[in-house]
Amino acid sequence: MLRRISIAHKLIDAACEKLGRPFNIMEVCGTHTVAIFRNGVRTFIPQQMNLISGPGCPVCVTDQRYIENCLEMAQRDDCIIATYGDMIRVPGTTGSLEKHRGTNVRVVFSAEDALVLAKENPNKTVILLAVGFETTAPATAVVVKEAAERGIENFCVYSGHKLVIPAMRTLLSNKNNNIDAFLCPGHVSIIIGYGAFREIVDDFGKVCVVAGFEPMQIIEGLAEICRLLTEDKKEVVSIYTAVVTEKGNQKAQQLLSEVFDSADGYWRGLGKIEKSSLVLKPKYEQFDAVKRFAINEQPYKDKSGCRCGEVLCGLIESPECKLFGNACTPQEPVGPCMVSGEGTCAAWYKYNRKRHTR
Ligand code: SF4
Repeated sequence: MLRRISIAHKLIDAACEKLGRPFNIMEVCGTHTVAIFRNGVRTFIPQQMNLISGPGCPVCVTDQRYIENCLEMAQRDDCIIATYGDMIRVPGTTGSLEKHRGTNVRVVFSAEDALVLAKENPNKTVILLAVGFETTAPATAVVVKEAAERGIENFCVYSGHKLVIPAMRTLLSNKNNNIDAFLCPGHVSIIIGYGAFREIVDDFGKVCVVAGFEPMQIIEGLAEICRLLTEDKKEVVSIYTAVVTEKGNQKAQQLLSEVFDSADGYWRGLGKIEKSSLVLKPKYEQFDAVKRFAINEQPYKDKSGCRCGEVLCGLIESPECKLFGNACTPQEPVGPCMVSGEGTCAAWYKYNRKRHTR
């Protein structure tokens, strides 16, 4: 292990010297963000290698309209909201889902749990808040199919599922972007395959490296990016070979295309992105909460002073938000990036708030 670290370090140092300029690497995965902070990776990389956190936390990129809609639905006594834990404390204008916890809101650990809730509560409609990227969407697809097959009518899904590649394209389409390379999301890549990032290389000329989440994998991923940058090779490489293949999990992809269509969707910070969200196919519309409850999908203007949108686009670092550590803390969060276990502001607060700059 020490030998591997030393080799990776030498590669990074040599690359920085050879490049002779600052360069920016964006990690597009909240799990990477937290692992980078937790393991102090930012503290020992050379100054000219700048790590930027991107839109990789699914709860954080969920737009405020979705949050407000969830809060509204949580007030209905004919419904039970089933949600993963990360969503429960995201603030909206009338508080968070936390205040309804145990009554109209239940925390679930899997999509299947939501279906069980529906079976146990036949007089209520269970609404699964399905938030997540390609990693979690297949589990939602499984329960939608199961609900259809078993005729479970008091169950539906409020899909907040999002796709990673359209967000990366949107970031790169901004001519002011300063991204040289991406540390690509390991979990998502298991599903979509590392080959899916080839369009980022071909269309934007950016280096993409898929890595796992152990500190060693992250360091080796950064070293691999350095190698590609210094050799001026615009390529996609996976060093997460234990679980990521070029084509990904084709069964999961098949499941997604059976149950979902891609549609334009709103992202916090990035706005409306074409074909970036997953919505249920017409065949499954009876399980679509948007249709069942005629949910308002117009964008919502956040007035809290929270700068999560800029954090998610890598435009600012969390401490640059004047609420950071003052009005906004993990105990009293103002924005989702301070709530989620994968949120950039929460990671800054927990691991680096005294330093504030690298
Ligand atoms: Fe939003 Fe709080 Fe982060 Fe500021 S510190 S961007 S208010 S989550």
